[in-house]
Amino acid sequence: MGRAFVYVILGGGVAAGYAALEFAKRGVSPGELCIISEEPVAPYERPALSKGYLLPEAPARLPSFHTCVGANEERLTPKWYKERGIELVLGTRVKSADVRRKTLLTATGETISYKILIIATGARALKLEEFGVNGSDAENVCYLRDLADANRIVDVMQPCSGGNAVVIGGGYIGMECAASLVINKINVTMVFPEAHCMARLFTPKIASFYEDYYVFKGVKFVKGTVLSSFDFDSNGKVTAVMLRDGSRLPADMVVVGIGIRPNTTLFEGQLTLEKGGIKVNGRLQSSNSSVYAVGDVATFPVKLFGEARRLEHVDSARKSARHAVAAIMDLEKTGEFDYLPFFYSRVFALSWQFYGDNSGEAIHFGDFSGSKFGAYWVSKGHLVGSFLEGGTKEDYEAIAKATRLKPAIDDSAMLETQGLSFALAVSQKPSAVPPVEISSSTSTVVLKKPVYVWHATAGVVVAASVAAFAYWYGRRRRRW
Ligand SMILES: Cc1cc2nc3c(=O)[nH]c(=O)nc-3n(C[C@H](O)[C@H](O)[C@H](O)COP(=O)(O)OP(=O)(O)OC[C@H]3O[C@@H](n4cnc5c(N)ncnc54)[C@H](O)[C@@H]3O)c2cc1C
Repeated sequence: MGRAFVYVILGGGVAAGYAALEFAKRGVSPGELCIISEEPVAPYERPALSKGYLLPEAPARLPSFHTCVGANEERLTPKWYKERGIELVLGTRVKSADVRRKTLLTATGETISYKILIIATGARALKLEEFGVNGSDAENVCYLRDLADANRIVDVMQPCSGGNAVVIGGGYIGMECAASLVINKINVTMVFPEAHCMARLFTPKIASFYEDYYVFKGVKFVKGTVLSSFDFDSNGKVTAVMLRDGSRLPADMVVVGIGIRPNTTLFEGQLTLEKGGIKVNGRLQSSNSSVYAVGDVATFPVKLFGEARRLEHVDSARKSARHAVAAIMDLEKTGEFDYLPFFYSRVFALSWQFYGDNSGEAIHFGDFSGSKFGAYWVSKGHLVGSFLEGGTKEDYEAIAKATRLKPAIDDSAMLETQGLSFALAVSQKPSAVPPVEISSSTSTVVLKKPVYVWHATAGVVVAASVAAFAYWYGRRRRRW
């Protein structure tokens, strides 16, 4: 026995919420759409879990952060789904899928069939056991991927005030959890094997700014080593963390953020996989034309860089989901997904955004002892990535636009001198004729020369004026 739907979204996270909103905007009929999620709640903005959710005062709680508030859209409460006849099958794990028969089998024994399936299963947190360390099931060892994990951290954290936490991992989750633990008055030591934090994205110079800031907030860093084992008390609680370099860190709680694995298992052997995710085309369609994949689980072509990528960020989940639904509902009018990778984080009073790709040469700019600084990445003579800490909305829009335009860079010293002014100038250029063209044969980026020359000249003139103004303005401000 089972139910049948036209559209089924498998997974009830960020991408599912944005897909539902797009379906509703495009006029899905009651009874046509179903969302199946292992989580017991309607889709929510997952990034809140490591930020507002862990605050000691006035913490964020559902229903305040159901999707799609993160993109300033409607907040989709359970009532919203009900009013539109969208079926929410919550607290239900799908244990197998048959893409040939177009069916999903749930852990409760129900077979749900679909005409079109959107896979939005996201990813799971990697466990210490996968690296040969036991102890994940101790009551004071925490991970953070879903609401249940966040509730566990809150419960474990509360009696720990004034005590010691060890955070394993120096990526997103580690950095954001460490900040939240400090705000909860817990002494934090971060342990990771790399030479600096956020090693996949930050340059050593950027990382050193954040590490110094964290040290100022009381965080200790132990770098270049990994966890080897735990010490437990008689109740099975962790009391200390043993490191491979021989040191021992007393711990009242441990938070582990050592990476994620996309949830592809249900489809292995049935759909084509690439780079760890489900391979999709520019319309987010998998190797089976009735199956789409979006969010963290999808490996999609990033047109701007001429290669397929799997991203683990909320903006990509939101936009890929909406694009897939547009393609499903209106294929004729829906082009290829043309996405500019975008990541952000907020910790303490700091806030940064990154656009594009961090490949090639990194050129830093701004005041690393102040509150606004950044970096550009230049690869094969073009700007391919931009990072900015402490920017305004306009600054972030400017680095995003400049990165998308991929202007040619002949002189990296110029970039360093002009800094943010360069992006502000480039982003103000008239964009009637797009300067960037992707060559379909080679997937390399070429600039149309006459347009480029005009743009480059205009860009340099505007940049120079902006830089001059900024210098003058800066001097005036310093005098005040
Ligand atoms: C704590 C935290 C903080 C973050 N902060 C940021 C940030 O600041 N900036 C940023 O850019 N990104 C951030 N991210 C990443 C961002 O949240 C993800 O990229 C985004 O959630 C991906 O959306 P998704 O829908 O693909 O997957 P998810 O949101 O993970 O949703 C997947 C859903 O599928 C369900 N599911 C999986 N398998 C099954 C199954 N077999 N049966 C039924 N249901 C299933 C899961 O239970 C879940 O509900 C953060 C992530 C976390 C965990």
